[in-house]
Amino acid sequence: MPEPSTDTEVLIVGAGPVGLTLAIDLGQKGVRCTLIERKEAPQFLPKMERCNARTMEIFRRMRLAERIRAAGLGREVPMDVYVILAMNQPPLLRLPYPSVAQARREIDSCTDGSMPLEPYQLISQYTLEPLLKSVAEKLPGVTVRYSCEFLSLKQDAGGVTAQVRNGDGSASTLRAAYLAGCDGGASPVRRELGIRLGGEGNLLQLRQALYRCDELYDRIPIGNGPGKGRHYHVADDQATFLIMQDSTRHWTLHAVVEKDADMARQFEKTIGVPVKYDILYVGEWKQNLLLADRYGKGRVFLAGDSVHLVIPTGGLGMNTGVGDAVDLAWKLAGTLRGWGGPKLLASYEVERRQVGDRNVGASRYASLGRRKWRAQYRPEIRDQTPQGQAARDAFARVADVEQRKTNEMIGAELGYRYVGSPIVWEEPGGPEHLLREYVPTTWPGARLPHVWLEGHVAMQDRLGHGYTLLRLAGTRKDTSALERSFKARGAPLDVLEVADEVARSVYGYDLILLRPDLHIVWRGNRSPPDGLAAVATGHAI
Ligand SMILES: Cc1cc2nc3c(=O)[nH]c(=O)nc-3n(C[C@H](O)[C@H](O)[C@H](O)COP(=O)(O)OP(=O)(O)OC[C@H]3O[C@@H](n4cnc5c(N)ncnc54)[C@H](O)[C@@H]3O)c2cc1C
Repeated sequence: MPEPSTDTEVLIVGAGPVGLTLAIDLGQKGVRCTLIERKEAPQFLPKMERCNARTMEIFRRMRLAERIRAAGLGREVPMDVYVILAMNQPPLLRLPYPSVAQARREIDSCTDGSMPLEPYQLISQYTLEPLLKSVAEKLPGVTVRYSCEFLSLKQDAGGVTAQVRNGDGSASTLRAAYLAGCDGGASPVRRELGIRLGGEGNLLQLRQALYRCDELYDRIPIGNGPGKGRHYHVADDQATFLIMQDSTRHWTLHAVVEKDADMARQFEKTIGVPVKYDILYVGEWKQNLLLADRYGKGRVFLAGDSVHLVIPTGGLGMNTGVGDAVDLAWKLAGTLRGWGGPKLLASYEVERRQVGDRNVGASRYASLGRRKWRAQYRPEIRDQTPQGQAARDAFARVADVEQRKTNEMIGAELGYRYVGSPIVWEEPGGPEHLLREYVPTTWPGARLPHVWLEGHVAMQDRLGHGYTLLRLAGTRKDTSALERSFKARGAPLDVLEVADEVARSVYGYDLILLRPDLHIVWRGNRSPPDGLAAVATGHAI
């Protein structure tokens, strides 16, 4: 029987931030894709609020960074984190973190490759999703269908056929060459594949509420209370935690309380002075540390929360998922355009599952830190007595060490390096994977460190969207065989001469072969080895 023709090249299930990023990246690469989402429209519900530096670098390459910053938190707003008794009392601890504007100034003067090109950006998920949706909808080749629910799938040698339910209740099928399940923690796609999540589930159940309070931000500091900041952890035994959202008019509060109605009192207790506010939403959520055994099967791939569920401490949920999306996008594009070999898509699971695993570990490490300082809570902590003071001091002392584990994760964010990947020219050994610290490296598998070139041009902005061979500091090494090899395979390769000595000194090599996602395939001071193009494009045996 002839195989049915496809409706689209890639069917993406789930229009959360990960599915939307994948749709945009594929669309920008000229791949036809259909994104289906069971909800009628994006919802105004609180979830993530911080795109980390690596995610912002990725969005910059998609020409979205400035739009995201314009929609998100103002660039001068402090990102400080506080531990407090209440918003109108002196803070127990302040951990200062730069605003976007301050971080940009630091990045501008950094010359050793140790900083990202883009600072982080606070943008609430309910702002980010509609923005990404509007971008995806405008891309030719991308079809976005809300009110369309994925039900089941069947795959064969030529593609995947999905059963879907449309908004009017009717059922239909969609046929694609590949399917990507970006359908969140409950992932019906993952279930269809029979893939298990392993780890620790349901560690803690909290309530979260979203408030609109127009006056709070402007009134800070209230008396001797903490200054303007991003997170306020309350010293109590209910894990109460106040988060500023991107408008500075919206706030979320997490706490262990018995019922929804308790969230009004909890907010008032946290603020400490009367303010006018509305509660827009109250819901429950569970903390999980889970990782899928597999990241796909056959022509079906999984990305984002469908394969890794972390505790938001460390902000490695959506951010890890965005990394999955961009890793998958160029590999799907290369395979669909015919230059990618069988190892290209196979490398997706090898590369991204190890990052998922490390980030679940990083999130566990951060959340244990938080648990440690919260365990210092003593009922007398608010008492104006020597015992009360001692309780406050001990609490702040431990929090000063342990809370940093949540907020200082630059190693996990920028330093991830793909180990054992079939499309990386491995060098034995390699630097340790550090969570808290980023040490720039060009070790194969790592992300190319950011450097400024002459005229304050970012290296990343000079790089195209295919592979790039960097020829540094006037090297005369012959690279023509590699160039011919890429050409013969029809794989896109730019050759970029970079005379700049700073880049040569940070990168440490004359020649560097980069993948479309700016991870390093190979580096060397001699002409590239035979077989390098085959490895890079997934054809090596
Ligand atoms: C309180 C909280 C704070 C957080 N803070 C951060 C943070 O600061 N930084 C960070 O990186 N992460 C954070 N996270 C995690 C982040 O929200 C998630 O990691 C992120 O939403 C995952 O994105 P996703 O696209 O993979 O999945 P989701 O956002 O869950 O999206 C999946 C989509 O698939 C759709 N879907 C499901 N089933 C079907 C179906 N059958 N058919 C069609 N569509 C379907 C769903 O409706 C949904 O829209 C936080 C999470 C919480 C709960």
